[in-house]
Amino acid sequence: MINHLHLETHSFFGLKPGPKVIVLGRVHGNECCGTLAIKNVVNLFNTQVLTLDSGKVTFLPIANPLAALRGTRNGDRNLNRAFYPKTSDKNNFEDKLNNILCPILEEYDVLLDLHSFLNGDKPFALIGNTSAGKKDFVIGQKHVCTSEHQLVSALNVDTVITNWSDTYTRGVQKRRKRDGKHSPPFTLNYDEKYGDGTTEYARSKGAIAITLECGQHEEFLASSVGKNAILNLLNRLQMTRTETCVNTDNHNVTYIKLFDVIDKLSYGDKFVKNWKTFMKVEKNEIVGIFESGKEIRAPKDCFIIFPNQNAEPGQEWFYLGEKPNT
Ligand SMILES: [Zn+2]
Repeated sequence: MINHLHLETHSFFGLKPGPKVIVLGRVHGNECCGTLAIKNVVNLFNTQVLTLDSGKVTFLPIANPLAALRGTRNGDRNLNRAFYPKTSDKNNFEDKLNNILCPILEEYDVLLDLHSFLNGDKPFALIGNTSAGKKDFVIGQKHVCTSEHQLVSALNVDTVITNWSDTYTRGVQKRRKRDGKHSPPFTLNYDEKYGDGTTEYARSKGAIAITLECGQHEEFLASSVGKNAILNLLNRLQMTRTETCVNTDNHNVTYIKLFDVIDKLSYGDKFVKNWKTFMKVEKNEIVGIFESGKEIRAPKDCFIIFPNQNAEPGQEWFYLGEKPNT
């Protein structure tokens, strides 16, 4: 039984200096793979299959215990939106969680946040952008410089999405303009930090922060993807030595840069096909039709990302992304 009245962590401290890493599971309560992956890795430490040589690693297997208890994505709201400390109006469970989780995240150099998805095939990762998030570490006796771009290559994914934050900021500006919300106070959906989740917050405090989408919610292998990602990340940072990590040195990664987010406007808005993440859409191809009859066409050759037919009106319906410099 999950107790939603507290948070549980597991920490290991190596005896040599090194990076401080935190791994989150179940920021969304119905995404169990991160919790399972963390349990498996903690078990490897506890049975002495794995030793932490340097640095510190903390595992937080259930970041949103209310949502996890209910088996739903959100408790009172989406924890992975408007993720920053709240001063006065702590109206909901996730606002209270923000004030516990934000100071925890601030202590770490690297965040790995494990999620799963509704539609799609292969695991993928999200980073800030390909040049951001550089960080210097003392690992053992050495100074090592790494970045989100370099670390994500340790996670064995084919696809990496960038530019979430900028896309969201523009999305909220469009939303405010459309709905005539010109002056504060802005409610959650119109908050300029609406798009900020765990990684955006950690990044704003100087951390390298990566989201890993491990597979579909019900996918049996998703927890293994998460477990291997944790092992590979710790190994890449020279914090552990393990024979179980997958060699990723020659792995080919495709980057997709988000450039637009489109809100659903009413329940009658429909996609014209059963879109899945990373499906290609050609310039001028119809993606969906608003209830008003207005067609939504792709502005250029690009990819559909995170299509959500079940989105609520006024919320994110789908995203568009492209390969950088094409
Ligand atoms: Zn998620």
